[in-house]
Order: sequence, then C-alpha cells, then structure tokens
Amino acid sequence: MLVSQLLLPTLRETPAEAEVISHQLMVRAGYIRKAAAGVYTFLPLAWRVIKKIEAIIREEMDRQGGQEIMMPIIQPAELWQESGRWDVYGPELFRLKDRHGRDFCLGPTHEEIITDLVRGEVKSYKQLPLMLYQIQNKYRDERRPRFGLMRGREFIMKDLYSFDRDEEGLDTSYRKMYEAYTRVFLRCGLRFRPVEADSGAIGGNDTHEFMVLADSGEAVVVYCPDHSCGYAANVERAVSPPDPEVVPEPARPAKPVATPGMRTVDEVTAFLGVAPRKLIKTLIYETEKGPVAALVRGDRDVNEIKLKKAVDVISLELAGPEAVERITGSPVGFAGPVGLTGVKMVADREVEVLSNAVTGSNRKDFHLVDVNPGRDFKPELVTDIRLVGAGDPCPGCGTALVEARGIEVGQVFKLGDKYSKVLGATYLDQDGRERPIVMGCYGIGVTRTMAAAIEQNHDQDGIIWPAAIAPFHVIVVPVSARDGEQYAMARRVYRTLQDAGVEVVLDDRDERPGVKFKDADLVGYPVRITVGSKAVASGEVEVRLRRDGTIRMVPEEELVIRLSELLNSEQVIV
Ligand code: ATP
Ligand code: MG
Repeated sequence: MLVSQLLLPTLRETPAEAEVISHQLMVRAGYIRKAAAGVYTFLPLAWRVIKKIEAIIREEMDRQGGQEIMMPIIQPAELWQESGRWDVYGPELFRLKDRHGRDFCLGPTHEEIITDLVRGEVKSYKQLPLMLYQIQNKYRDERRPRFGLMRGREFIMKDLYSFDRDEEGLDTSYRKMYEAYTRVFLRCGLRFRPVEADSGAIGGNDTHEFMVLADSGEAVVVYCPDHSCGYAANVERAVSPPDPEVVPEPARPAKPVATPGMRTVDEVTAFLGVAPRKLIKTLIYETEKGPVAALVRGDRDVNEIKLKKAVDVISLELAGPEAVERITGSPVGFAGPVGLTGVKMVADREVEVLSNAVTGSNRKDFHLVDVNPGRDFKPELVTDIRLVGAGDPCPGCGTALVEARGIEVGQVFKLGDKYSKVLGATYLDQDGRERPIVMGCYGIGVTRTMAAAIEQNHDQDGIIWPAAIAPFHVIVVPVSARDGEQYAMARRVYRTLQDAGVEVVLDDRDERPGVKFKDADLVGYPVRITVGSKAVASGEVEVRLRRDGTIRMVPEEELVIRLSELLNSEQVIV
C-alpha cells in the first residue's frame, strides 16, 4: 500500500476532548473518527488492527471447540421480560419501538437470545457440551461514554456461551475459556493478568477478569509477587487474612473523652495517642433498604462492593452531612456504634476482635475509649467488608500483596442455571430426566483491547504496536521521494517485502523526511526501513525498531530473512 493513497489523516494537534492517551493517539494517528459520543468510525488502519485481534480470538475460540454464529443486534423485549432483565437493566439498555409499537432493544449482551436458541434446539444430553460464539457490535448507553474506545456506546465484543450437562462440565468449559483467553492476550503481545473478580449483579459463582496492566487502567488489582503462589484479584473482590498481631486485652469500662473538633482518624488517634488500628471507624451509608453503619478498623477502608453484597442492596451511597446528623444525632466525624439505633450495623471481622477500642460517641466533640465489641455494641452482621490493598498479606501465602492498575479486556463467568431456569432451557439426561442446562458466558472487548494495547504500548512520539496486531509491520521511507535512485530502491525493497508476505507500506509522499518519520512513529509501525543516499551507494538499508529505537544496517538481499527474525522476536516481547 502506498501511504499517499491511504486514508490516514494524521493530526499535529492533540484533540481537546480526548482524555486518555489511546484516544488521543487514535485520533491523531488517523485511526478513528467520532460520529457521536461513544460511537466511532474505524478508518482503514484501525480496521486492520481489529481484524487481527478478531482473527486471533477466532483461532483460539475454535481451538477449544467454539462454533461461530451471528445473532441479531435487534432483540425483542419479550425475551428480556421473560428473563426479568427488561426492567432491571436500566438506562444502559438502548430501547426502540418498531412501526407497530412493539418494544425492542439493541443487544448489550446475548444471554436471552442464545438461551432462547438453545432451548429450542437442544433436547438431549447427547447434544451437550456446546460452545457458541460471535464477534459483533454491542450497544450500551453508558452513563459516561469516554476514553475513546475504552468505554463506547457501540463497541465490538466477542461473546461465547457454554452449555453443559452439569457443574463438572461447566468447570471444563470454564477452564478451556480461561486458557483460550490467556492465549489470546499473550498472542496479542500484551502484558496482562487474570484476576479473581466480583460477580456483580449477575450473581453466580466463579469469575475472572483479564486485565491489561496499564497505569491508566480504571481497575485496581492486587497480586502476590510470589510466582509460585499466584494469587491475584480485583480489589473489589480481594481478601486478606485478619491482622495476626491483635492481642486481646482485659476489658476496661468504656468512657467518653472530649475530642474537640477532632473528626478524622488521624486527628483523633494523634490527639489520644493511640494507633489508628485501635479505632473503630463508623461510616454511615444510605441504601434503598434504609441506613447502614459500616464498621472497619481506623487503618482500613470499606469495600463498598462487599458491603453492598453483605446487606443485599442495589444502591449504596455514603450519607451526606445532613443525613449523618439525622441518623446519628451528631455531625460527621463523631458517629459510633454504641447506642446507635435505627440502622443496620455491619462490622468487619477485624473489628470484632478488638478490645478497648476508640469509637465515635454520636455526640459532637466527644469520642468513647475502651469500647469492647460484643459487650458495648452488637453488630447485626460480622463479615469481611474491608478493602484490601498493597502491603496486606496474601490470603494464599502471607507475602505482602502488590497493587497495580488494569484495564478489563475480558471476563469469564460461570452462570450456572440462572438463565436456563428462568427461560426453561432444559435437556433430558441419560435416565430421561429433565434438567436445566448449565451455562457460562465469556466476553472479550475487541475494541477495548485495541485501546488497551495502546495504553500499554506508546511513548511521547506515538503508538508502539506489538507486531501481532500492528496494522502493517513495516514502513519503507525513501528520504527523498524526488530522488529517482532512492525512490527506485525503496520501491524495490517494498515490492520484495510484499512478495515475501510482509505487510508493508511505502511512504511515497513528497514530504520532508522529518514529517515522514514523525508520522511513522505516530502510527506505530513496528519496523521502519529508511532508504537514503547512503543506501543507494552501499546497498544497505537502515532498519529501525519502533519499540526501542535501535537501528541496524541490513544488506538489501538479507532484508526478508532479517525482518522475519525481528518480527518473530517482537512477537514474544510481552
Ligand atoms: P465494565 O465494568 O468495564 O463496564 P462489564 O463488566 O460491563 O465492563 P462485560 O459485560 O463483562 O463488561 O463485557 C465483556 C467485555 O466487553 C469487557 O470485559 C470489556 O472488555 C468489554 N466492554 C464492556 N463494556 C464496554 C464498553 N462500554 N466499551 C468497550 N468495551 C466494553
Ligand atoms: Mg459495564
């Protein structure tokens, strides 16, 4: 392909509305253009990247026995009403009506459609297990579509659904998909980590998220640096053993102490001369089921996802100053569990074992000391509601956990019989008994993977594509396209590479070399071959790797072999 003919509109300026680097670079380097918030056109180079990611995904799904199908984007409301999700999915669901006034939605996911298909077609245990997938546009009216392809309202997803006879079969399908996902992201040349994840609103059992590690990631994960242990989890889900250093003390009688104007854990503990881990922090939340008081140690934070699950609510918001005053009778900073009524009280496990602790007193400018859980207050629920972070001990081996940020590019999920039960997808087992099909669902964000690859692989000059998903592998740049000899040699190199199956473009534009080099770096071709006057004289061309900027001189006749070596070694740089 000739660069002069490519639709590759590079920009010098960083687009104002692009907040993250992948979005900025994709716009600047001429990969995408916006049609509406969270809705994009993919220009030729972007589409090549997407097709490569899709090809890798297809191969790995097929390798595990997945069969590709294509389901409709437009889905009838009746199916969603049947599953119960028409009402609970909320404003993220794009809804529409046909000319007869019938309700439809644009598919954000396909559990309903596929379960409907399978309940109609699968009758016997002989037809199971089954794995069906598609790669298709998905529609979600995200509250905040932003960060370019990271959170679109129209985006491409691969979704696979597994159907098994029983839990054991599901375990096998789940393992197969876990392996497939590992292979997909390895082959894409990405640094990633599968982590234990929270199962969220779908409920259910096992789930892992595949996180591309990048500082700009929205998700926080913790992992054990000890490779032989391998524990890794989204902080939403992460657990850690309770502090082993807590020694019970003989209980002293609780008493109030004046703490004028001391509201924060640091202020109160410094003022009283005790360690933050001796304080019980009381946080007041409002939920649709009424107020909740969450108790954690002063040196810990509340994991709101765990708390939400523990009290089984859909909405959970930290109460504002007025609500705190109404609920506890005191301003923010003085809430405490002793004598607190009219709230559901949930204590973290580490709180239960404290003795002679400091708490708020529900009275302005006073705290209580020598408070003893069990004696002075009784929580309704004692469970793990603590947010785990860097430095906390690994639940597997005790090593201090490490924190990293990640971009969720895929998730694997055991659904069990959630959808098959409500939609009546059953089969007859060997004994002729009717049983619900056991399901799993497995998604990869194709367009988000493309963005994540850039978030992880770029520098100040532009994108650095891993070779496996680069739109082209090589760009050949004649220093002066007007110089007949240089251009002839560049063209010859270009043709030779093309004939050898290398994906190559020739920058035939009559531009200054600096402009061409800048564009090549911005677009992110893994290899640049420069043909200048020296090359014409010596027969050696300059081969530069985008990733590390290293340059080597390669005789024209050795180019094909050297390039295949370089690109192959690049393939395994992860
Ligand atoms: P998130 O929590 O980021 O909204 P999700 O849990 O809703 O993601 P899933 O329903 O598990 O996502 O979808 C499978 C995959 O689709 C995700 O792992 C992600 O890679 C991708 N994905 C989800 N929402 C979007 C979006 N709005 N734009 C781009 N990709 C998305
Ligand atoms: Mg989502």
